[in-house]
Amino acid sequence: MDGFTCDMCGKVLLADENTRYIVRIEVLAAYDPMELSADDVATDRRGEIQRLLDAMRQADPEALQDQVYRRMQFDLCPACQKRYLAHPLPEPPASGTNADS
Ligand SMILES: [Zn+2]
Repeated sequence: MDGFTCDMCGKVLLADENTRYIVRIEVLAAYDPMELSADDVATDRRGEIQRLLDAMRQADPEALQDQVYRRMQFDLCPACQKRYLAHPLPEPPASGTNADS
């Protein structure tokens, strides 16, 4: 049987482990219900829509996909499964490293 390796530590799985864990991550854009006003409905948005479509035609398809939905799957050994459950999200970047102003 083809072996799996732990995606965190690289350990070969199934050869000396009875259990392997699968982590499935879905990252998807959450769209809140739109609240439309009378002004929203009265505004002509054709130019705005055309500009958006033009921008999408020139954009990288992978980048567009990442803006909407991405699914990932990882295999973990039992030790890394425990570590993952204790800290499922990575530490935020150190302050001063992002471009927010
Ligand atoms: Zn591991």
